[in-house]
Amino acid sequence: MATSLKNVIVVGGSYVGKAAAQELARVIPATHRVLLIEPHSHFHHLFAFPRFAVLSGHEQKAFIPYTRLFAALPHSTQHATVQARVLSVHQQHVHLDRDWQGLRQIPFEYLVVATGTRLAEPAAMKDEDKPSSVRYLQKHQSDVKQARSVVIVGGGAVGVQMATDMKELYPEKEITVVQSREHLMPQFHPRLHEIVKKRFEELGIHLITGARIVVPEGGFPNHGSPFTVQLNNGSELTTDFVILATGQKPNNDLLRQLPATSADSLINPDNGFIRIRPTLQFQDPQYPNLFALGDIADTGLRKAARPGGGQAAAVAKNIQAMIEGRQPEDVFPAFPMAIHITLGLKYNIVFRNPNPAEGQPEPVIKESWDSQADMGVERWWERMGFQENGPSQYHL
Ligand SMILES: Cc1cc2nc3c(=O)[nH]c(=O)nc-3n(C[C@H](O)[C@H](O)[C@H](O)COP(=O)(O)OP(=O)(O)OC[C@H]3O[C@@H](n4cnc5c(N)ncnc54)[C@H](O)[C@@H]3O)c2cc1C
Repeated sequence: MATSLKNVIVVGGSYVGKAAAQELARVIPATHRVLLIEPHSHFHHLFAFPRFAVLSGHEQKAFIPYTRLFAALPHSTQHATVQARVLSVHQQHVHLDRDWQGLRQIPFEYLVVATGTRLAEPAAMKDEDKPSSVRYLQKHQSDVKQARSVVIVGGGAVGVQMATDMKELYPEKEITVVQSREHLMPQFHPRLHEIVKKRFEELGIHLITGARIVVPEGGFPNHGSPFTVQLNNGSELTTDFVILATGQKPNNDLLRQLPATSADSLINPDNGFIRIRPTLQFQDPQYPNLFALGDIADTGLRKAARPGGGQAAAVAKNIQAMIEGRQPEDVFPAFPMAIHITLGLKYNIVFRNPNPAEGQPEPVIKESWDSQADMGVERWWERMGFQENGPSQYHL
């Protein structure tokens, strides 16, 4: 469809890309439109994946249609969500893996990269559509239900949340968490490790630290009968289900064809994240109209969705300023490292690392017993434009 509108493209429609797309739609002039490019048919509420991979009956709720994303925003009909993957970014256009309105190449005036990181299933879905992802979670729930013993590899948030949910739901199962480092949740003050360890002891979850599982080529059998798992310290475990809840890989492939001013001006070779200025513009001086934010941006902050909201607002203001012929001056805010984590179906804590700069030498810990089974997912439906919540809408 021919249009005289100029494109502001956001690549990646998860927590931070979605927030950036909505902020941009709020502030850019009618001469421009926002195109949010994302291969998933629905928004993935991945905070809930570990729980919905164990507890049945809520899995539909984790996938929210993009159809109302721009509904309440100015010039709503000119913005769009494009279901596609960006294969490569070029100076003035992106190249898609499929046609959109007859086009494979979409030009842009401004580009915002929010492609985040890749996680292993069940912390992320392999499929793009809702029915397949719902079926995957249901199958995972029934595999967990049938297993007599489960080994969870990884002592970060995903592993910890799955282990505690699973043991509360199925106290008779033998649950083991294997963590390669000495501490669980190692990005945090060691007090968090102590809290989680104590919770594991209360529930009867086995913890092995300082050892790695050897992942066989082709993965684990996971077919319901017992098998042996090797650890790199020479010991072994027998189990009938292994869940990988290990590290994240940055989604930076799409920048591979973009010429860089110097070898490491686009991507930080130490971690794979996109180098940015405080304004969230690419650090490479060739690309002042390209921005990165959220988990893919090399901000030096802990990877979290919440700080991404402040980054989305800064990017939108900067692009607005540039469209209006002003300098981009908004810088992204630094949030203290914090997490809200469930340690069972009801018990949850908010944990904030010490912040000596603000006179907080100790971590801040707030505990509650108020988690809902579906983790309050309706709030996310509201943010995606679905104000009247009812059971039938969750199947959209
Ligand atoms: C279990 C769990 C619980 C969490 N809980 C919290 C919490 O309570 N609070 C909090 O603040 N954070 C939490 N986090 C962290 C939070 O989920 C991440 O920081 C957040 O998802 C980062 O968002 P993002 O938009 O930057 O990237 P991501 O969520 O990684 O999403 C990237 C998106 O980009 C898309 N994409 C990738 N490549 C391309 C491409 N080439 N073309 C088009 N699209 C592409 C992907 O499909 C994906 O939708 C949690 C994480 C997990 C795993």
